[in-house]
Amino acid sequence: MAYRIEEKRGRCLECGNELPYGRSDMKFCSTSCKSRWHYEHDGDLKGMRRRIIGALDRNHGILALLIAKGVTRIDIPDLAQLGYNFDCITSYHKVRNHNEYRCYDIKYYMSESSVFRLEQCRRERPSPSSDP
Ligand SMILES: [Zn+2]
Repeated sequence: MAYRIEEKRGRCLECGNELPYGRSDMKFCSTSCKSRWHYEHDGDLKGMRRRIIGALDRNHGILALLIAKGVTRIDIPDLAQLGYNFDCITSYHKVRNHNEYRCYDIKYYMSESSVFRLEQCRRERPSPSSDP
């Protein structure tokens, strides 16, 4: 996405008109340019969020289907073939020497070649006795 950062000084980000002198923090020549620019870029953000949420939902559907079939381990290329998007997860952390990934309530571990210990988690209720 081009933000026209090369025009770092003196020109409106939206229309490219020269800006008045003396305001180095100024980015737009007018409020209409400002709102037009934000409208376009907020639109991109919404599109991006929609795409990511869509990919997460699709990922979750794929994983849920595998779990429903009793699959707990699958080779990465096979999972990719099903349309799984490895970039879209809801969390990631290291557990001992494994990498644990989550897509909403489904978690799995991933090695270089496969996804394993695929399972759907029960909703985790914080127990009052355990400190984090
Ligand atoms: Zn302008």
